[in-house]
Amino acid sequence: MRRMRSVKVVATLGPASDTYDMIRKLSEAGADVFRLNMSHGSQDDIREKHQIIRDVERDTGRPIGILADLQGPKLRCGVFAKGEETLVEGAPFRFDLDDAPGDANRVCLPHPEIFAALAPGEILLVNDGKMRLRVTDCGEDFANCVVEVGGVISNRKGVNVPDVLLPLAALSDKDISDLEFVCDLGVDWLALSFVQRPEDVLEAKELVKGRAAIISKIEKPAAVKSFSDILKVTDGVMVARGDLGVELPVQDVPPIQKRLVRACRKAGKPVIVATQMMESMIEAPIPTRAEVSDVATAIYEGADAVMLSAESAAGQYPVEAVTTMNNVAESVESDPTYRAIIEASRTPSRATVADAITLAARDVAETTEIRAICCFTHSGHTAMLAARERPSVPIIALTPLVPTARRMTLIWGLHCVLTNEVSRFKMAVVSAARAARNAGFSEEKDKIVVTAGIPFNTPGSTNILRVAPVQEKLIFEGETD
Ligand code: PGA
Ligand code: MN
Repeated sequence: MRRMRSVKVVATLGPASDTYDMIRKLSEAGADVFRLNMSHGSQDDIREKHQIIRDVERDTGRPIGILADLQGPKLRCGVFAKGEETLVEGAPFRFDLDDAPGDANRVCLPHPEIFAALAPGEILLVNDGKMRLRVTDCGEDFANCVVEVGGVISNRKGVNVPDVLLPLAALSDKDISDLEFVCDLGVDWLALSFVQRPEDVLEAKELVKGRAAIISKIEKPAAVKSFSDILKVTDGVMVARGDLGVELPVQDVPPIQKRLVRACRKAGKPVIVATQMMESMIEAPIPTRAEVSDVATAIYEGADAVMLSAESAAGQYPVEAVTTMNNVAESVESDPTYRAIIEASRTPSRATVADAITLAARDVAETTEIRAICCFTHSGHTAMLAARERPSVPIIALTPLVPTARRMTLIWGLHCVLTNEVSRFKMAVVSAARAARNAGFSEEKDKIVVTAGIPFNTPGSTNILRVAPVQEKLIFEGETD
């Protein structure tokens, strides 16, 4: 089941994709990582899906990544006596802490921290940004507003406060409970919603204790502002364009996407471009040309992964959506312009031995007839360095550790293979050659490049490069070690 592309596909699971058959079909069609959205579904649901994914992984013999996405501090208003109210432009409306059902004049907003942080002139957005209210006057338990863009507000609708750094805990009680639950279950990546500051990431890391790697979802203006500091502490990033386009003008999203993808590539940390990529495929078997172009853009930028949300979770054509993404990726990546763009947007290597060895591996592979770069990796570090170079030859990431193999499924270009633990470099070369043959990357007459860190088991120690024949008996020829 070798993929013929480097970019990875993340598919969100939901009611449209909760059976073994469907999840297996999605995996075979091209989904490399499955996202479990903690905003929907009980912990029992999540446990069931998790088990199905692991069953599919066992039956297909290929590592699959699981990304659990925490709901985060999403603000919601209270309920209305009539269930909903229509607010018209120019009308006054009040948010307060009174939990009595709301009416056409007011509703409860059960978050005292917000009132403390608000000031007159600031904006509240309701229902995915469809309605806009401006604060005229506020105190510690109320905010009087004027409706600028009207519409229907109903029970527990989401409220966004884009311009204010909210003094909210990064993790709600539900998030903390979900975090423990999924870390115990065993997920590979944990996504944090509505990250605002680097401290939010550190707080989660303290609870996760290395059981999963962290993806920071960039969907708040505050996160965009402090992005370089967030990038220093996170393991990966999601350009969460849905909420980002609510909290900021939609036209700001593409430049932010470009900036974030470039910064992540420079840092060698994975970046996922997410939301509305094939939105029309929720109801149609074929995407719009604009959607195809959007997916292509993310791939030309060199993003590690593109993501499906409702298309695979709740749409009518989940398999078609994954297949289409896969086809777009194959088409883009075989375009000579793609290589030209990737090369032109590559950032210089950093001054470490590991970076230099990795750069050399790419150089050797690209200037000779070498078929694959094979990285022996424990923590995943060596393989991620190889991916950072965005080489034109395939990368095989070999590891004896199941969690590492699963985590690496999200990273650009990595074909992940489980091997036996080896203690000598020569055995690593044998494993690499075997993996290259088995996965169809090379034939008997070919050569591969192998990189590793000696001694094994020391993250970040990549210090050795060997060009080796794929044919096993040749590897040992002339060897004394
Ligand atoms: P969500 O995050 O799907 O959890 O809202 C992604 C986004 O906002 O784009
Ligand atoms: Mn979001």
